[in-house]
Amino acid sequence: MDDERQKILIVDDERFNINVLVELLKPEHKTTVAKNGRQALERVLMGTPPDLILLDVMMPGMDGYEVIQKLKDNEKTKNIPVIFITALSQTSDEAKGFDLGAVDYITKPFQPTIVKARVNTHLRLKRKSDLLESLVALDGLTEIPNRRRFDETLDLEWKRAIRNNNLLSLVLMDIDHFKLYNDNYGHAAGDVCLKKVARSIEKVPQRPADLVARYGGEEFVAVLPETDGEGATQIAEQMREAVFSLGVTHEFSSASDVVTISLGVATIYPVVEIDQKYLIEQADKGLYDAKEEGRNRFVDVDMTISYDTD
Ligand code: GH3
Ligand code: MG
Ligand code: MG
Repeated sequence: MDDERQKILIVDDERFNINVLVELLKPEHKTTVAKNGRQALERVLMGTPPDLILLDVMMPGMDGYEVIQKLKDNEKTKNIPVIFITALSQTSDEAKGFDLGAVDYITKPFQPTIVKARVNTHLRLKRKSDLLESLVALDGLTEIPNRRRFDETLDLEWKRAIRNNNLLSLVLMDIDHFKLYNDNYGHAAGDVCLKKVARSIEKVPQRPADLVARYGGEEFVAVLPETDGEGATQIAEQMREAVFSLGVTHEFSSASDVVTISLGVATIYPVVEIDQKYLIEQADKGLYDAKEEGRNRFVDVDMTISYDTD
């Protein structure tokens, strides 16, 4: 099991603090260090991502708050748990840290047993959530099927539709002005909102073969086998309505005073000559148009037009 040790990135501008933490954690875990925010972001994106980040709040240049915001904005790094490290006098800023998506706080000067206990707790949770995600292909945050499951399902349903000469519909959706939601209500509130949206849209399609998944970030997707354009637009409208009627206040959206989604709908008779990506691209076009036309709506892309297959 030794090579399965989890990796911790320690970010602090003071050499002394880094040394104390490395000494403490190295016996049980892989440690890597960064001495400023910029370096931290580089390390995270290079090679295997860490399982946990210990992040100093006060650093010259980019501070810890800015670093966590950048991490949370990136699909590749946003699921890495972050523990803030702060001097005792700054504990009033704790709430801000949690709002930005930190999982915990550790205060300086360090209490070795507390640091170890907290680090181990979060590493254990991370390992479990990684395992769960890989076993059931569920998204860690929203607990609906993840991107991998979507890719597999689309592939399967695409082939099945070719064999049976059936229609296949896809609905791609994206939360409206979600960046403004995060910026104004905090990342933690954003996460709660994502969970609510996921739960509400997941309930809409009823057939056993239907799949609703998190496509990435604040985007979701529904695969609707044996569903024609009319059926798919009905589902899309019901999903739009389901999110709207959650009534989650969003004072900064141009589309409504509550959180809404925009949707793109595409339907096709799959054939071997066409790549599945085409269906996604068409749904994405619809989504783009729905955004352009004012959001909180769906746009159905007409795919009866001829396509180039070469
Ligand atoms: P539009 O209506 O055009 O879609 O605008 P938007 O602000 O929703 O689009 P943009 O792509 O600019 O912003 C998406 C935001 O979604 C930015 C990112 O921080 C946020 N986001 C992505 N994944 C997560 C997540 O897991 N949790 C939280 N809280 N926010 C997330
Ligand atoms: Mg988006
Ligand atoms: Mg959006």
